[in-house]
Amino acid sequence: MEYIECNDPYLLEMKREEIARQLIRYRLRPPQTTILTRMHRKKVRAIWKQVHQSSPPKGLQPSSCSSLLKKRDMKDVSVFIAIYKSIIPESPLNPERIIRRTGVLNLLDAYRIYCNMFSSKSIVLDFQTVYYLIHDIKYGIATLGTCESCEREYLETVNDKAFWGCPFCNK
Ligand SMILES: [Zn+2]
Repeated sequence: MEYIECNDPYLLEMKREEIARQLIRYRLRPPQTTILTRMHRKKVRAIWKQVHQSSPPKGLQPSSCSSLLKKRDMKDVSVFIAIYKSIIPESPLNPERIIRRTGVLNLLDAYRIYCNMFSSKSIVLDFQTVYYLIHDIKYGIATLGTCESCEREYLETVNDKAFWGCPFCNK
């Protein structure tokens, strides 16, 4: 999703490690952290152990965001998409295209803003979920729709399966 840029190889490694640490603090699993940072997976697993004092969780990885989302999460999904798009300077013509141009730093920024908007108890979406959400929109696995009634944007389909419609007015 992201290509962390830096000309100096030593600095680049430091930068990657710092980003990996932030992702792991948000409990993004090692396989996804490896993809986003392009670090060696052994190194990523070592950071996980250091940060959480335990081994990374085992088990199947979700194939899309759909398995992580429930109907009650969908308002927050719209809020998160709006935040994500708002931190990107150009005005979006096409949401998928805009999301395609962004990367891990935007994702971290958007998640930080999202978390700061709510008290920690009322945060609905975890970082793993927003990672899959943006990934799926980026690669066309998920599509967005705009509500004809309230004009808000919402997650419309994942893997061609329609979701629940606009979470704000249930149309
Ligand atoms: Zn609506």
